[in-house]
This record gives sequence, structure tokens and C-alpha cells, in this order.
Amino acid sequence: MFGLRFFIKQKSGYMADSLNQWLAVKEDEWESLCCHCGACCGAFEDPCEHLFIGLDKKSCCLVYENRIGPQKTVSGQSFNCVNIRQKFGQSWPGDIHCAYNR
Ligand code: SF4
Ligand code: SF4
Repeated sequence: MFGLRFFIKQKSGYMADSLNQWLAVKEDEWESLCCHCGACCGAFEDPCEHLFIGLDKKSCCLVYENRIGPQKTVSGQSFNCVNIRQKFGQSWPGDIHCAYNR
């Protein structure tokens, strides 16, 4: 009985590890779709104060790990930064550039 329990525990742990690895790969694939146009961060209107646009016109968030929640635009307007998934079905200036809209 102990052997079976041990086997099931080991197998469950292995499956959890495999699932986590698979989810991490899928998350990376999802993130890699982004073309860094910055449209979702206001690049084509009043941009978020944390949006950095490089010389190559590619943008990135300077506070990415802590981005979700209240933020301000360059002109001082308050808004809530949300996960891009929450913007699906909405429109915003420059959304035609968003890779997730294609
Ligand atoms: S905080 Fe949000 S809106 Fe601002 S640059 Fe980062 S991801 Fe974009
Ligand atoms: S609008 Fe879409 S493609 Fe452009 S930076 Fe935002 S998530 Fe990436």
C-alpha cells in the first residue's frame, strides 16, 4: 500500500511539473506574439508614464512585473493597467497594430 501511495505521489508530482513546464512554454509563446508596438499602453495617444519607446520604435514597460493596477499617463490622467486579455473585444487608438487582434 505504501508503495502504491508513494508511486501515486511521485506520479502526481511529475505530472504537476510537466503541466507547469507546459504552461510556461505556452506563456512564453503567447508573450512572444507581442510586437511591442505599445498601442495598448497609449503609444498612439497619451502614453503611460512607464512606457519606454526605443530608437527602433519598439516599446517596453519599465514596471512590467508590477504593472497591473492604477497608473498614470504622461499628461497625468489616471487609468488602470490591465492584462491584455481584458482588452479583447474593446477598441483603443492603434489597436490595429496589436498582434493579438489579428
Ligand atoms: S504600466 Fe501598463 S500601461 Fe503602463 S507601460 Fe506598463 S504595461 Fe503599459
Ligand atoms: S498592443 Fe498588442 S502587440 Fe502592441 S504592445 Fe500591446 S500587447 Fe503588444
